[in-house]
Amino acid sequence: MFHCPNCHSKDIGKIGSNHYYCWNCFIELTVSDNIIHVHQVEEDGSLSSLDDLFDESDRNMQEQTNR
Ligand SMILES: [Zn+2]
Repeated sequence: MFHCPNCHSKDIGKIGSNHYYCWNCFIELTVSDNIIHVHQVEEDGSLSSLDDLFDESDRNMQEQTNR
């Protein structure tokens, strides 16, 4: 399991295949090719990407595991 790139919590729930939700900071996470993609749910229900806010290493599941 990985930790949240935003708050580093491990309190992450699985809501679908490759689709996760951080219960600590309420952002959605999707994983493809070991890269975590971060999305914020807007008030109107749409998703906006937060990937730009995080380093690639923070979003890489394998690098997280190796630390
Ligand atoms: Zn979080």
